[in-house]
Amino acid sequence: CGIVGYVGYRDALGVVVDALRRMEYRGYDSAGVAILDGLGGLAVERKAGRLANLEAELVDRGPERYAGSTGMGHTRWATHGAPTDRNAHPHRDRTGRVAVVHNGIIENFAPLRRELEDAGVELGSDTDTEVAVHLVSNAYAAGDTAGDFVASALSVVRRLEGAFTLVFTHADHPGTIVAARRSTPLVIGVGQGEMFLASDVTAFIEHTREAVELGQDQAVVITADSYRVTDFDGVADEVRTRPFTIDW
Ligand code: GLU
Repeated sequence: CGIVGYVGYRDALGVVVDALRRMEYRGYDSAGVAILDGLGGLAVERKAGRLANLEAELVDRGPERYAGSTGMGHTRWATHGAPTDRNAHPHRDRTGRVAVVHNGIIENFAPLRRELEDAGVELGSDTDTEVAVHLVSNAYAAGDTAGDFVASALSVVRRLEGAFTLVFTHADHPGTIVAARRSTPLVIGVGQGEMFLASDVTAFIEHTREAVELGQDQAVVITADSYRVTDFDGVADEVRTRPFTIDW
């Protein structure tokens, strides 16, 4: 029920886990993180239950596996699929290089799932979410948007119905995060040499007080020192955002 993204210069794992802890009050049944090491590696850990379960797993596996300054995190409130480790987010594509976290419900996941299964993709979870990551992976692999991470993500977002905040990372694009929202919240935290995404400003308030709230059906691409807001067609669309300073 909470999402966070980070691109900057700090240890992303620390920033992401802290942010998830700050959003714990929203309620959740599972938690997970994905960290990009900047060298083409993507490390994912996800666990049913309390954030403490995830943290214990991260310690067991060794923090060196999660070194990197780009990352995202998720707390799940299950709507489709039981609250188990395999249904926890982030979800990955078959190459293990593309990852997604999602809050909300993808209403048309069933036909999309059939489309993927007909094309031979085996899904690893019972969630409505997982279709999104395989579709982005396919869009990146071939066709009009091949090799273009942002265009691939947007082409998939345009096909989705329902309510969603979606955040995508790609191991080939370690300093970039792509996110989109419809009917669920997403706020950008604008720092100095670092950029945050979250469901809620409490996630990043200790790092920056400059925030930009996305409007309906908007997407954003963040890097350490830039953010670009567009509509789902990729057309620049700052007019419908709401910039504000957090003054509490
Ligand atoms: N519908 C997704 C799931 O069940 C996301 C739920 C959420 O908002 O956390 O996995």
